Amino acid sequence: MPWITDMTHMPPPEMGDRRTERTEFFGQVARLGSLLGAKTSVLSAILCPGLPDKGYCGTAVEVLIPENNGEIQWSCPKCGDSGIIRGWKGSSWDSIRGRTF
Ligand SMILES: [Zn+2]
Repeated sequence: MPWITDMTHMPPPEMGDRRTERTEFFGQVARLGSLLGAKTSVLSAILCPGLPDKGYCGTAVEVLIPENNGEIQWSCPKCGDSGIIRGWKGSSWDSIRGRTF
C-alpha cells in the first residue's frame, strides 16, 4: 500500500522540531523530484525510513517522474515501501522558485 502524500498538508520546513523523520523524508524526495523532468527516474541518495512495523531501512530510494502530471513517485528496492507525492509545486519543497506551471 503506497503512501499518498500531499505536501500542502505537511508542516513547512520552518517548523523544524515538529517534523518527524518521515516528514523529512517526504520533503527530501519532493525537493529532488521537483528538479526532474517527466519520464525520469534516478537512484537518489535519500535513505528509506523503513516500513512502520519493521523499523529503519536506510536503503537509497528510487525517485521517478512517470508523467508530467505533478506526481513524484518513490520506491525502495529493499523493503518495497513506495509512495506518491503531490501538492509540492510552489511549496517550501519546490526547488524551483517562481515556478509558473
Ligand atoms: Zn526501504
